[in-house]
Amino acid sequence: MTPFRADLHCHTTCSDGSLTPIEIVKLAAEIGLKGLSITDHDTIAAYETATPAAKEAGIDLIPGVEFSASYRGNNVHILAYCFSLSNEHILAFCKRHQARREQRNHEILELLQHNEMPVSEEELLAGLDTPTSTPHKTIGRPHIAQAMVRHGYVTSVQDAFSRYLKEGKSCYAPGEPFSVEETINVIHRAKGTAIIAHPHLIDRRSTVRHLLQMNFDGLEAYYARLPKEREAEWVKTAQEKGWLLTGGSDFHGSVKPNIPLGCSWVNEETFRKLQSRMAKSGD
Ligand code: AMP
Ligand code: FE
Ligand code: FE
Ligand code: ZN
Repeated sequence: MTPFRADLHCHTTCSDGSLTPIEIVKLAAEIGLKGLSITDHDTIAAYETATPAAKEAGIDLIPGVEFSASYRGNNVHILAYCFSLSNEHILAFCKRHQARREQRNHEILELLQHNEMPVSEEELLAGLDTPTSTPHKTIGRPHIAQAMVRHGYVTSVQDAFSRYLKEGKSCYAPGEPFSVEETINVIHRAKGTAIIAHPHLIDRRSTVRHLLQMNFDGLEAYYARLPKEREAEWVKTAQEKGWLLTGGSDFHGSVKPNIPLGCSWVNEETFRKLQSRMAKSGD
């Protein structure tokens, strides 16, 4: 029998992934995953179609989302799980993120214009590689990078990031920052579980140290293709704190072709623990 595996971190066309929610659920079933959480950036729109698809495919789905936050100018990603999909705090927070992103995308397009690489707001909306019919879709730097490739300003999405869109580069705009503390509070008000996403990717060690003192419920120790010995450091840290340990691939489909769905996962014990928190969140 295939062992129980659940991937708790992946992205769909509702944010910057290349597969639709239904396609990702089908793929999860095909590769033998038993559990899944879809964690699009700042939106839970995927669940509208993923929930019935998961039921049909026999996949256990846990509500999730990946919120962008900022700590002293450092980008921090926070995973939220186990909230109710109709929770007003989560829905309102996602809405505020969409407004933040609209403003920020506008700022980035202005910077591109100044650098003689015009991309119009219309084409950003119309020319997405992914279906535009998706409601509440999160548009971010990866979509801007794709438009830059189409115009021939850069050779690849990676090239767009490293030359122009990365933090500190000429066309980077941070947007209105949402604090880590506020994000944790929203998640907890929604009776959700707040997890530090991919802590090894956080730029400054001091930021990580400060985050570890905050009111998180866990951290993401199993991540994409992170080597086992690096994983072990985070497992130890979480265990010392009595925190939950989560994990997932951070699958984005063809956007990150070297990272397949299910390349990192959690076992049945962890998944059931999260499911029991779900029961307590009133969904
Ligand atoms: P945003 O949420 O708009 O700030 O965009 C962040 C997203 O862009 C991340 O979740 C990644 O999917 C992607 N990303 C970040 N850095 C890079 C990079 N250097 N190259 C390619 N994609 C990146
Ligand atoms: Fe992403
Ligand atoms: Fe992330
Ligand atoms: Zn992610």
